[in-house]
Amino acid sequence: MKTRIGESWCQNHLANPKLYPFLEQIDLDLAEIERANGCRYCSGELHRANYRRKPRGAESWPEEPKRCSFCCDQEGCRRRHTPPSVRFMGRRVYAGFVVVLVSAMSHGLKPKRVAELRKTLGIDRRTLERWRQWWLALFIESSFWREVRARFMPPLCQKTLPLSLCLSFEVQRRDRLLDLVKFLAPITTPTAWKELVM
Ligand SMILES: [Zn+2]
Repeated sequence: MKTRIGESWCQNHLANPKLYPFLEQIDLDLAEIERANGCRYCSGELHRANYRRKPRGAESWPEEPKRCSFCCDQEGCRRRHTPPSVRFMGRRVYAGFVVVLVSAMSHGLKPKRVAELRKTLGIDRRTLERWRQWWLALFIESSFWREVRARFMPPLCQKTLPLSLCLSFEVQRRDRLLDLVKFLAPITTPTAWKELVM
């Protein structure tokens, strides 16, 4: 398995300035689907109410990336709708794909290399450990994972998540990394995220 991982694919993705425009475009598409569906609670229309968030580990991103979000236009409802995202992951301050890639690498690389990568991205040891625990506990217990895991044949190794997911998607290729972050996008909405936090 290790020979297939190498070290460069993760770092290449993280350093690639072209990744951001792709991710942003996918988020805009996901947002358009949400907007077109209208309010989930009444018959109201959704108006744009984006909010600013600058996730860490995404230094090549524009200064003020905005998470797409909407508010219902009906008096008395006004509920917020936040579509899934491939750039953000719940309330994390790190970009979603950084959490996926770095957590995956922590399974495949020598501790020394993991430490170097952490340093480069400004992720402390405890944070990375929390991410690992999150994949191995909350993620595998989530309704999302229980629903989708049967799609993988042979079954994915749950002990090495998300590395096993990355390998299965062959994320060395950028288009496949995009497929993976799209696959994970349903867990990024505030509603879905609730069951994924302690
Ligand atoms: Zn409404």
